[in-house]
Amino acid sequence: MSLDAYIAGLPKAELHLHIEGSLEPEQMFEFAQRNRVSIPFDSVEAVRAAYDFSNLQDFLDIYYAGAEVLRTEQDFHDLALAYFRRAAADNVRHAEIFFDPQTHTDRGLPFSVAADGLLAGMKTAEAELGVSSKLILCFLRHLDEAAAIDTLHAAEPWLDRIAGVGLDSSEVGHPPSKFRHVFERAGQMGLKRVAHAGEEGPPAYVWEALDVLRIDRMDHGNRSMEDPRLIERLADERMTLTVCPLSNLKL
Ligand SMILES: [Zn+2]
Repeated sequence: MSLDAYIAGLPKAELHLHIEGSLEPEQMFEFAQRNRVSIPFDSVEAVRAAYDFSNLQDFLDIYYAGAEVLRTEQDFHDLALAYFRRAAADNVRHAEIFFDPQTHTDRGLPFSVAADGLLAGMKTAEAELGVSSKLILCFLRHLDEAAAIDTLHAAEPWLDRIAGVGLDSSEVGHPPSKFRHVFERAGQMGLKRVAHAGEEGPPAYVWEALDVLRIDRMDHGNRSMEDPRLIERLADERMTLTVCPLSNLKL
């Protein structure tokens, strides 16, 4: 058996997936059309070319432009189901997916639109594809902590269906300690805590994610490699790092 076939056949769990970032160019055009939203791209090919990013901010720019076309629960359901179909084709059996509610509430959508739509898509995926999943609510770190606290508050009616909180978006200049209180509150509510750290930010941000945010799992963590003491600490704690091969390479 070839290595590719062996890998393709392995059952997998996907632990680092931003659902809004999984929007395919074709779907971006379809949603833009059905919601009558204009987007800054002329063609599917132009979107695909823009995804050839070389730093985090370039990626985030297209990510946020793409999110503009998501308007209804149906859109979020369809977005999730398209991802799960693609994942199931690679024999993903379980996925823990991130979503960024502030990307949607900040453009006027109620929290329920993204949350209920994604949860419905997850349910359909479990029934039709046999892929189980959990939802992780990410705070946008370029916004302030008060906005994150408001988001956690808005999420309260859904917390029985949300597995944990995370921290993503532009990292440099927005250290984990900025979100000390909201993570503390999330922990008290029984939510798991994860955070992007050391993706582009320095090892000090990884230390903060461990010591200040008390995370259960780390996303990226690449720059931990610059600090041997930190690597020892991660090994001692048997910390799981969810590495994203594509963006780790490109960033
Ligand atoms: Zn990520």
